[in-house]
Amino acid sequence: MKRPAPDNPDVTLITATSPMTTPTHGGRAKCLQRLVRLNLPVPKTVSLSFASVHKLAAGYRPDVSEVLTQFEADTLLCVRPSSEDPDWGGPGAILNIGMNAARLASLSSRIGDKAATEIYLRFIQTYAVDVVRLDAELFDDIDGTGHEALVRALTLYEEEAEEPFPQDPGVQLAEILRSMARAWEGTTARLLRQAKGAPVDAGLGLVVQEMSLGLGSGECGSGVLQLVNSVTGLPQITGRYLSQSQGREALVGGAASIYLEKDLRGPSLEELAPEAFAALKEHAALMRAKLREEMQIEFTIQNGDLHILDGVRVDRSARAALKIVVKLAEDGIITKQEAVMRIEPRALSELLHRQVAARAKRDVLGTGIAASPGAATGKIVFTSEAAQASAARGEACVLVRRETSPEDIRGMHVASAVLTERGGITSHAAVIGRGLGLPCVVGATSLRFQIKRRTLMAADGRTLKEGDEITVDGSSGQVLLGSVEMVEANLDETFRTFMSWADAERDIGVRANADTPADAKLALHFRAQGIGLCRTEHMFFETDRLTPMREMIFARDPKDRAAALELVLPMQRADFIELFTIMQGQPVCIRLFDPPLHEFLPTNRAGQRELADALDIPVSDVTRRIESLAEYNPMLGMRGVRLGITVPEIYDMQARAIFEATVEANLAGAAIVPEIMVPLVSAKREVELVRARIEAVAAAVRAEKGADFSYRLGVMVETPRACLRAGDIAEHTHFLSFGTNDLTQMTYGLSRDDAGRFMTEYVRQGVFAEDPFHTLDTEGVGELLKLGVERGRAAKPDVVLSICGEHAAHSESVSFCREAGFDYVSCSPFRVPVARLAAAQLALADKMK
Ligand code: PEP
Ligand code: MG
Repeated sequence: MKRPAPDNPDVTLITATSPMTTPTHGGRAKCLQRLVRLNLPVPKTVSLSFASVHKLAAGYRPDVSEVLTQFEADTLLCVRPSSEDPDWGGPGAILNIGMNAARLASLSSRIGDKAATEIYLRFIQTYAVDVVRLDAELFDDIDGTGHEALVRALTLYEEEAEEPFPQDPGVQLAEILRSMARAWEGTTARLLRQAKGAPVDAGLGLVVQEMSLGLGSGECGSGVLQLVNSVTGLPQITGRYLSQSQGREALVGGAASIYLEKDLRGPSLEELAPEAFAALKEHAALMRAKLREEMQIEFTIQNGDLHILDGVRVDRSARAALKIVVKLAEDGIITKQEAVMRIEPRALSELLHRQVAARAKRDVLGTGIAASPGAATGKIVFTSEAAQASAARGEACVLVRRETSPEDIRGMHVASAVLTERGGITSHAAVIGRGLGLPCVVGATSLRFQIKRRTLMAADGRTLKEGDEITVDGSSGQVLLGSVEMVEANLDETFRTFMSWADAERDIGVRANADTPADAKLALHFRAQGIGLCRTEHMFFETDRLTPMREMIFARDPKDRAAALELVLPMQRADFIELFTIMQGQPVCIRLFDPPLHEFLPTNRAGQRELADALDIPVSDVTRRIESLAEYNPMLGMRGVRLGITVPEIYDMQARAIFEATVEANLAGAAIVPEIMVPLVSAKREVELVRARIEAVAAAVRAEKGADFSYRLGVMVETPRACLRAGDIAEHTHFLSFGTNDLTQMTYGLSRDDAGRFMTEYVRQGVFAEDPFHTLDTEGVGELLKLGVERGRAAKPDVVLSICGEHAAHSESVSFCREAGFDYVSCSPFRVPVARLAAAQLALADKMK
């Protein structure tokens, strides 16, 4: 390649063989070269490399004669941006460069005075606004397109720019190149593209192309064509053509624009210029096959002849993206592996949930943390009871709470969406919301929650009351007024085909966190390889169990406790039988009771009175007992295995329910080896004590039922100490499952329920690169995970290792887990496909190395 001199931009005429790559000249330049190689009728184009554009932005004067000598003296030119990834944007195209008084005269004789004048007029305006940065409104008063208007525009330009409109095409081009280069380097443009994933030093190339005018005698015009529908991804010739037009005018040309293919709704290019249309279709098909992508083509027709000006990747919805790659692979244009690599795992969530339609108008009341994707509309309710009443009336509702607690579970089950003032990405509402596939926005501090007054105040002062309709968009974190247009979830054959291709590549297991039969069905539906975490506490909030649970909590001695739990046992057994039956022999990992007991006690006066009635004791006894159970720091208090050791009857009952359910499931033919997991362990002795009691329960059930069964006992590693002591702990267990929610909380000393209050600010100021409850902190928490894995494996080489915190579905965490040697990840059912795809892409990327 020719070495560019400092004042001489690196100019390359695009030919079939000129040296040109996407990372040095940008995607548009590379694409144009491919079109040239396909012998398509592409007007002559030269490309300026990233390096040269960078120098222009830094103030070097461009030597445009290098560019101009490539073209005939009288040619008009256009300049378009050519960044590495088209999604990163770039300055808008500028057409008709070179237009001046002399060319007005020569062009008038070729295409007529009216068209030539209009071209000049438009160019002056574009140049004034985009290059000289004059106010666009200045030209608003210029009516018409004739000579008078032209004179006015030239006068206005001269007055405002304090110099005549430049007549030298070289000067015009130099200024345009320089302003486009500067626009790219501006702070706003840089931040915008960085938000789309562009690196800080992303480069911009520019392409300078001979204009194919689209104006003049014979059939002239311009248009845009693609072979698929951008929303559905289904084959459909889409686009418009407009006679006597340039650029993308056909798309905004209103009634004058015509269809491409014959159409009952109106005239078409196929009828107007059948030969050009046939050639266009042929070129489009060739581009799809050879560029191995669905392309949008910008074309012109000049006196009947077709020119292909540009090709860009078809803009597409998530649903269309999937359809497109599957069809390309089925047509043998790309491989299945390439199809798998082409879809962003995160984009799958869009297909799994209803979404606010891209074109919907959003009246934003406030924003919070997007905690569970998808969107839903409903009437505001402020209590779980009101949610249930609303459901009974058949009305969709949004449960609005300061924060949710296990008492709200029933309300959440019937609500369409949840909105909370407090909480972060792993707070109760967020975790349950994701598990239920319920759109959820948490930490919405820009809104004022007046729960007692039953009102919600928007950031701008608008007040909403119970019964008013809002939409919660859990994908963007926005809360919108009223209902908005939605796009339905879509899990069709294409989705299943695509996921089967991904699974063929995957080398790490993916299970689901599932607590209820409905979750388990979803887990199977999303092809999870079993349940990696069944949080049993949710089962105790059902009305029929809450009272015996409370009796158990209020019991004076172990005997009374055991008696209360006797009532819960058959219900718990039925829960497990149902789960085992649904999972059809797939592994089911049941976590023993984890939360502090006070979560089961009523928080208001009415509830306390009800409990006093049920237990036949004075209300004061109830309140005293509740007070005695209160803890300053419940998440670090009497919960998890600590309860298992001090109130062992709960774990005894659960172990019995699991074993009795296993015997029944085995008899019914759903062979099952249950996995029992002990939460919040920090010392080996805790495991020894719990294991001894569980073994005793297993022996008792075997003897009583006269039936044998196996089970696996494992530990949930979610305290820093458990990671450090994973060696001793592993000796007593079949598996270690790392709970990164609590582990993150304890590693940072950061409450997962309160972090939402300052997390946005922390991330904004760069204290944390990301919310560590959302993106696994591979440096700190990750170091503990690695230690746990190494020490656990060293002590017991066949110990099964997994991760079951909310991080599990993210590509970065899946990558970390694969490298660290985990056997599987377990995440909310709706994120199972995301994790499956992320895992497949990582395996494929490894193979390609
Ligand atoms: C965890 O702590 O990572 C976990 C999965 O358990 P929970 O979220 O129920 O505390
Ligand atoms: Mg936990």
